[in-house]
Amino acid sequence: MEQYVQPKIHDDFIQTTETERDSIRDQVNSLFPEKNITFNSVWGIPKFKKVFVKAQYNKCAYCEEKLTTHPDVEHFFPKGLVKKLHSTGYEVTDMVNMRGQQGSIIACNGFWWLAYNWYNYLLSCSICNRQWKVNFFEFKPNRDSALLVNNKSFVRRRKKYIPQLLHPFKGPTPYKHLKYNKYGFISARNKSILGINSINVYGLHRATLTDSREEKMANIYNAVLKYITAIQHGDDLGIQKSVVTLFKLGHKSRPFSSIVKSVLFDQVELSWESFMKINKNTFEIVNIELDTIVETKRYVQYLQSGTVLEIADQAQKIKQMGAPTMPHFSLVQFFFTDVSNESWATL
Ligand SMILES: [Zn+2]
Repeated sequence: MEQYVQPKIHDDFIQTTETERDSIRDQVNSLFPEKNITFNSVWGIPKFKKVFVKAQYNKCAYCEEKLTTHPDVEHFFPKGLVKKLHSTGYEVTDMVNMRGQQGSIIACNGFWWLAYNWYNYLLSCSICNRQWKVNFFEFKPNRDSALLVNNKSFVRRRKKYIPQLLHPFKGPTPYKHLKYNKYGFISARNKSILGINSINVYGLHRATLTDSREEKMANIYNAVLKYITAIQHGDDLGIQKSVVTLFKLGHKSRPFSSIVKSVLFDQVELSWESFMKINKNTFEIVNIELDTIVETKRYVQYLQSGTVLEIADQAQKIKQMGAPTMPHFSLVQFFFTDVSNESWATL
């Protein structure tokens, strides 16, 4: 699991969802605790979804695979049914169908007051969302007097519930709680509860995902090994080359970028933050290169199928990145031309 910068709330979100929020409040006031609340989706509106696609580099918040069409908007705190996981599932061999997951209902009406809270959203693939996490959640305090446990139960609104799961935007850094071996197998680092819960609830141990990770592992282990060898031999050029490779593999736009951070942490006992600090200049240059590629690809996609406003906004963003006052601006201009086949002047 990777961690991204939480996207800022879209200017129109509060106004657009006002009716839904009122409706929930009315339902809670009048029905409590007789019926289950009904929710209307506001996610048919592409402009909201796009903000999250961008923030998460079009990757699933849980499994880190690239998202395909129509990613699910996931409520981290479940808005309706909340279940506690007792035993995790497994995939039926060579299929993505899952079996064996067992749990019990904690509340039928969960964290309803977060149903239209921008900061409770993230994007996930349908396998993580619909087969694994579904309504499962781990949090504190759990099963205490705050919860009414019966068939029509509500989670009581209170100031703070602390999730016992890793989150893509906030809280503990996921790679410090998760480990991966050469074959793509995942495990919790130092028996971390957050790691164990996240693996079981999000299904990060599933066979198809382990296989996908294994395909990337050889490259990652190889790069880390080259880095270690270069350091041992005082080979400056070798160090420089392997640092560039590691930054590229660990860029958040890449599938399974967090694994690079986890393996480096294992093998060199170096946090990604320290690694970035030690190699600050290289990190900046590699990041400019990869960010320019990401943004230019997006620009080309808008040219093909976006609105006039989207094209103009994206062009403006790239122009700012490559303005002559910016450090390494020539690199931005070079990669823009290289990716788009357009001259810088056309922006
Ligand atoms: Zn996923």
